[in-house]
Amino acid sequence: MDRNNPVLYLVLPCYNESETIGHSAVKVKEKLIALKESGKISPFSKALFVDDGSKDDTLAKLHALSSKDDLFAVVALASNRGHQNAIMAGMMVAREYADAVVTIDVDLQQDIDALDEFIEKYKAGNDVVYGIRKDRKSDGFLKKITASGYYGFMHMLGADIMTNHADYRLLSKRALDMLSEYDETNLFLRGLIPTMGFTSDVVYFDVREREFGKSKYTAKKMVHLALDGITSMSIRPLEIISVIGFVIFLISIAIGIFTLIEYFKGNNIPGYTTSIFVSLLMGGVTLVSLGVIGEYLGKIYMETKHRPRYMIDSVVIRETGKEEKEK
Ligand code: UDP
Ligand code: MG
Repeated sequence: MDRNNPVLYLVLPCYNESETIGHSAVKVKEKLIALKESGKISPFSKALFVDDGSKDDTLAKLHALSSKDDLFAVVALASNRGHQNAIMAGMMVAREYADAVVTIDVDLQQDIDALDEFIEKYKAGNDVVYGIRKDRKSDGFLKKITASGYYGFMHMLGADIMTNHADYRLLSKRALDMLSEYDETNLFLRGLIPTMGFTSDVVYFDVREREFGKSKYTAKKMVHLALDGITSMSIRPLEIISVIGFVIFLISIAIGIFTLIEYFKGNNIPGYTTSIFVSLLMGGVTLVSLGVIGEYLGKIYMETKHRPRYMIDSVVIRETGKEEKEK
């Protein structure tokens, strides 16, 4: 591994990004060429696009790019497996060729000019470099609130997760090899990578508005990611259920004793409101608890199947001049 002249693979997941590809490819090429010319990365570095089973002409556009320019490589997944799996697929393919991999969204909302700093931190000996967004100006009110609430909740649950770090991240070949050993289906990279314990550093970057096309993270995908994050990183919600159950048990003993005393004293309390309240509360608590348990049960079920995380349909990596490369 040559830390001074690393082969860098930039992994860009794409799902129905037809409007974005052309523009992003220009920017990515500019950046990689600048980095190569300044001697910061090896001339064998590439941009690897992962088509996550797009339904539009994203893949055709990607293939057109790679056939014209061997800077661009393409991995096509057979079906839409979601952002986390798409970047995992890209990283696992890139691992065979690269000394370091940086994952970045293809809409380039994350500032690609921060790459220089990622590379510096890598050269300084870090195996993991996390991109942390400086602020949330480009986000709506609701996303700001939910994001900060979510990070707070994750910390409360004891998950070792970086606040405001999405999946803009550099991993060295060593870290990628380690990551390949994790075969969980319920993949939440942000939570998983800090647990690997490599030397790491952070890079702060600005977030831009999306220029072309719409966000591919639907509310549904977002909720799934959030739940995956919690269930894959912590089992504390299950413990919380036990605690709630125990507290309710203590309260019911107290109420039970009180009611019995009142009964023997001959006071028949008109307890209609209380009864309704208690039965609704208990019904609610029971259902929520079952839901939480069900969430974990579902995850266990999926994990036990050991299905592949993704199916790679095709890989195009044109390695002109590979002979000259010592690997
Ligand atoms: N993406 C993907 N598969 C999906 C959804 C999204 O590969 O099922 C990619 C998408 O093409 C983009 C990145 O994940 O490169 C982030 O998605 P997006 O920009 O839509 O999310 P947002 O920035 O709005 O959170
Ligand atoms: Mg985006």
